[in-house]
Amino acid sequence: MTEYGLLVTCDRCHASTFSKADGEVELSGGWEAVRKITPIPDGWSLSTKVGDRYVDLCSKCAKEFGKLCTNYMSECFAFMRGDSKE
Ligand SMILES: [Zn+2]
Repeated sequence: MTEYGLLVTCDRCHASTFSKADGEVELSGGWEAVRKITPIPDGWSLSTKVGDRYVDLCSKCAKEFGKLCTNYMSECFAFMRGDSKE
């Protein structure tokens, strides 16, 4: 059976989620119908810019990535303030 929707795969751990299309939205003039996609699950992060490319992350990897960035930034700010221990 063919199902229309959006398949998102995590670029890090390759977990995937599928958002089904649930009906169509018609555009004025009756020219074209656009499929409505159910929202992707909470926590998934689409098109996160990492370096020079865009990646999709599952909720688990997105959370870890966010934590890493926060830690990294607080270390950067500590370094700029000069309160790093030497
Ligand atoms: Zn993942």
